[in-house]
Amino acid sequence: MRALTFHGTQDVRVDTHPDPEIVNPRDAIIQITSTAICGSDLHLYDGVIPAVMKGDILGHEFMGRVIETGPQSTLRKGQRVVVPFTISCGSCFFCGQQQFSACDNSNPVEKRDMSEQLYGTPMSGLFGYSHLTGGYPGGQAEYVRVPYSDVGPIVIEDDSLDDDKVLFLSDILPTGWMAAENAEITNGDTVAVWGAGPVGLFAAQSALLMGAHKVIVIDHYPNRLKLAKGLGCDVINFRESNVREALMEMTGGIGPDAVIDAVGMESHGFSFDNMMDIAKQTVGIGADRASALKQAILAVRKGGRVSIPGVYGGMTDKFPLGALMEKGLSVKAGQTHTQKYMEQLLGMITDGKIDTTFLISHRLPLEQAAEGYRNFKSKQDEFTKVILKPGMGA
Ligand SMILES: [Zn+2]
Ligand SMILES: [Zn+2]
Repeated sequence: MRALTFHGTQDVRVDTHPDPEIVNPRDAIIQITSTAICGSDLHLYDGVIPAVMKGDILGHEFMGRVIETGPQSTLRKGQRVVVPFTISCGSCFFCGQQQFSACDNSNPVEKRDMSEQLYGTPMSGLFGYSHLTGGYPGGQAEYVRVPYSDVGPIVIEDDSLDDDKVLFLSDILPTGWMAAENAEITNGDTVAVWGAGPVGLFAAQSALLMGAHKVIVIDHYPNRLKLAKGLGCDVINFRESNVREALMEMTGGIGPDAVIDAVGMESHGFSFDNMMDIAKQTVGIGADRASALKQAILAVRKGGRVSIPGVYGGMTDKFPLGALMEKGLSVKAGQTHTQKYMEQLLGMITDGKIDTTFLISHRLPLEQAAEGYRNFKSKQDEFTKVILKPGMGA
């Protein structure tokens, strides 16, 4: 089969790999019909996530048709499914709490030490996201093996729902939703979201659905800010205004009730701090650039909530711990417990309450995946979301 393969920093290519096979009784093999490039794939592409190896197949946002099932899979051949990016066993302590992204069984024994050393406990398995998370082949491919296929994938019964409408159930829609949920939004809240990328926009959309009175989105790409305005948000362009002053002005001098960092470890910004972090990241001494998060912590009101869906992998310097404590903030973060939200969100899509297709800017054949990465990275304003279609143009 053909699959998007990591060769080195900013070097990905579509190569030929052996077709995946059933390994465990609960596995299923999916023929991919649509798969997206995620903002977090760019962290792999840029080489800032450890333990990505030459030959790894990337991709964790995908859907398709079931073509083969193990004896204990609950799926049937021919079913159309969206697969969550988190691989979860469904029966460990964490899965029992619906904390699916903390599953204790999905990261194979031989890979667990890597993340255990970094984080104190091993991470769970994720598709196509480095050997820290199990080294599972991802879904930017013609076919993929889905472990625990009786727990993860959601069946799309209604064939009239296009792939475009449901694909984002695999990650970014539940991620945006959980980001808003983690911000504990109540009616009338003012919420500020850093990053008008896919997760930021979906978090903003979710915050409004949860009853936020005002959602303010911060970015510097004009087209992305336009999409935020289209959702009914206020916007701040951080190249044109001082973010903190603008937020104070927009919130009667108090600051937002909740803030969401949907930027993560590669944030832009020209403060001295951030430039130092960029330098350290470049020479590989493992610092996350956290300027968006630092700004969010300083801007949020006293007693406010900080939600972090943006991906961080290592350590950061000059973290405003004092502000966190003295302001009495609460912080929630984490990889998304995708399986917990898929059914509810599919219902909202079916009912027409959520439409996420506004985000899609490009649809490309899988063979042009490398070009998709390049443009998603270098022309972020124009390439808001790239969908790869393995069957397209074949
Ligand atoms: Zn993703
Ligand atoms: Zn589990």
